[in-house]
Amino acid sequence: MNKKQIEELKEKLEENKSSLEKTLQNFAKKDDVPKGDWDAVFPKQEGSDMDEKADEVEEYSSLLPVEHALEIKLRNINIALKKIAEGRYGKCENCGKEISYKKLSFVPETKKCRDCS
Ligand SMILES: [Zn+2]
Repeated sequence: MNKKQIEELKEKLEENKSSLEKTLQNFAKKDDVPKGDWDAVFPKQEGSDMDEKADEVEEYSSLLPVEHALEIKLRNINIALKKIAEGRYGKCENCGKEISYKKLSFVPETKKCRDCS
C-alpha cells in the first residue's frame, strides 16, 4: 500500500469511528473508567405495572448484543488507527503478510488477510 491509500483508509476509519460513537451515545453512556467501555443505560422504571416492566427489561436485553458488536467494532477501529500511527497497519495478525488494499477498503479495521480470516 502507498501513503495515499493508507490516508484514505485512515479517513474511512475516522468517519466510521465518529458515526459509531454517535450510535453508541444513543443508548449508552461512556464509562467513567478509562478503559473505553460503554454501558447501556437502563431504561427508567416508570409505572407499577409488572408486565410493562418485564417488557422494558426485555427490550433492554435485546439491545445488549447490538451494543456489544458495536463496541467490538469501535475497539478494532481504534486498534487500526493506532497501527497506522505506529506504521504497522495492514499486516495480518496471524501470518504477518500484507492484507490486500481491496479487503482493507471494504473493512478497514480488519486484522487478518484473506487466507487467515
Ligand atoms: Zn494471514
